[in-house]
Amino acid sequence: MATRGLLIGRFQPFHNGHAQVVEEIIGDVDELVFGIGSAGDSHTVRNPFTAGERVMMVTKSLEAMELDTTTYTVPIEDLNRNSVWVSHVQSISPEFDVAYSNNPLVIQLFIESSVEVRQTPMFNRDELKGSEIRELMVEGGDWEAHVPDAVVDVVAEINGIQRIQAISR
Ligand code: NAD
Repeated sequence: MATRGLLIGRFQPFHNGHAQVVEEIIGDVDELVFGIGSAGDSHTVRNPFTAGERVMMVTKSLEAMELDTTTYTVPIEDLNRNSVWVSHVQSISPEFDVAYSNNPLVIQLFIESSVEVRQTPMFNRDELKGSEIRELMVEGGDWEAHVPDAVVDVVAEINGIQRIQAISR
């Protein structure tokens, strides 16, 4: 039977740190599910991109990585009750054997639900951090250096820089 992993994140935006996590774990699983967290949130400085836009970022970035692995992308809305969040994720996602996260709350919730959770190294966390990359987008800095080319293309297609600059005012 195939081993299926779940990588959960907000991916606001999908960046080179996330891509390195994928490279790190892809050999451990036969299939990988991308859970697009906070799927209902968009058009804020913390969550500028819609779930659909993030699906495009992830799908096109993975395509360019030419992985020999089946991947799925599943938007997952937040719940204001942490104690049942893992059941909520399980009710939406293809069944998975192991979850990958470095987020302390996510790790805690999976452990409490007896789901195996694995952590990965943090890669260049000073620069490869969603909040830093969004700040560069707002300030007109070199955010493009920190995301896959496919994400640069998606942000251009959706006029994302204009959006994040407008909502940050
Ligand atoms: P994120 O996009 O910030 O990160 C995704 C993963 O990548 C995390 O494990 C993070 O640690 C890792 N990562 C980020 N930068 C990295 C780097 N440079 N090197 C290596 N790894 C790196 O997403 P997140 O905030 O962890 O996403 C968790 C999601 O789960 C959120 O959408 C959150 O709302 C949701 N959640 C919801 C509930 C609820 O609704 N009750 C509860 C818990 C979590």
